[in-house]
Amino acid sequence: MKTVKDVFEQFKIGLADVYDPQESEAIILLILSDLLNTSKAKLKAFPETEIGFPQAEKLTSILQELKTGKPVQYILGHTEFYGLNFKVSPAVLIPRPETEELVQWIIETVKQSESPVINILDIGTGSGCIPISLKHNLLNINAFGIDISTDALEIAKQNAESNKANVNFIEADILNFPGDIALPKFDIIVSNPPYVTLEDKNKMHTNVTDFEPHTALFVPEDDPLIFYKVIADFAKTNLSSNGLIFFEINESFGTETIELLRERSFRNIELRQDMSGRDRMIKA
Ligand code: GLN
Repeated sequence: MKTVKDVFEQFKIGLADVYDPQESEAIILLILSDLLNTSKAKLKAFPETEIGFPQAEKLTSILQELKTGKPVQYILGHTEFYGLNFKVSPAVLIPRPETEELVQWIIETVKQSESPVINILDIGTGSGCIPISLKHNLLNINAFGIDISTDALEIAKQNAESNKANVNFIEADILNFPGDIALPKFDIIVSNPPYVTLEDKNKMHTNVTDFEPHTALFVPEDDPLIFYKVIADFAKTNLSSNGLIFFEINESFGTETIELLRERSFRNIELRQDMSGRDRMIKA
């Protein structure tokens, strides 16, 4: 019978062309802990643990899928974000740790705020990870999420339900926002819009560019900040007078994003780095 240790060997060899050894190890741990319903620490502590036949067979088919470059989160069908479990499919961007940092910043800000924060809107919500984790941690808010994609919103709604978070989802294109959708004034508008340029694309891992939704990632070459401009303009009518905007940004466009916010009369603009030290988030 195969052991945990054998699977590590099998996967490390099998994935050598797709991932570096550290990435492979993280992926194997994720898969084994999910499949065997055990902790990563236990897997490491007991490498001689035996793996039954159906699971061993499943692991072989997972390995074949991983070799194509398909992200492990899509193979497992779920991922963790801000301590919650989220269903993911190729219809939604896989939630990233940088976005957890953005959520953390919003939660801190709301908890410290002197005026009440009630209505929060996330634009381009995808899996719904932002409004759902905010609602989970800030019970008094009304959370809203907009997305252009019907398929993404279907996943977002399932995630809201499984995480027992009440979120209002609206299907709309922010670049052509319909005038007849009634919205409250928002105290916070947040967005992690598409921000990857063609130049960045060429440097990215193909397991992102070949598998994740392009509408969630890529921006037009001639106007890479289009979403930021449109959202800042949208905020002029839809954000309350002391409201806040939070953005996740492309690390190369910090200065330009600050500038476009300034031009639109935003004040108290703050830029923050992510855990890798890259300019990644703005609050204004
Ligand atoms: N951070 C994502 C990536 O680099 C991009 C997310 C986005 O475009 N909003 O894969």
